Amino acid sequence: MAETTNKQPSDEEEEEDYMGDLSQFLPPETTAPSKSSVKDLQDILIKLREEYQYCLFCGCQYESMEALLSNCPGTNEDDH
Ligand SMILES: [Zn+2]
Repeated sequence: MAETTNKQPSDEEEEEDYMGDLSQFLPPETTAPSKSSVKDLQDILIKLREEYQYCLFCGCQYESMEALLSNCPGTNEDDH
C-alpha cells in the first residue's frame, strides 16, 4: 500500500501592509507645504528604498536593491 506523507512545506509568505506602515514615516504635520517638508519626503523615500527596497512612485516593493535599481527610473516623481 502506498503511504503518502501528508506533509506540505509551509509556504506562507508574510505580507505586510507597507502602505499602512508608511504613515509612521510621515511627519504628523503635512498640511503646510514647504521646502523643508519636500526634503523630508525625499529623505523618507530614500530611507524606504534603502531599508525596504520600496519605491512609492513605482508603488511596489522589490525583492532586492538590484531589482529596484533596474526597474525604478529614479528617486524623483518626474522620473516615473
Ligand atoms: Zn520607482
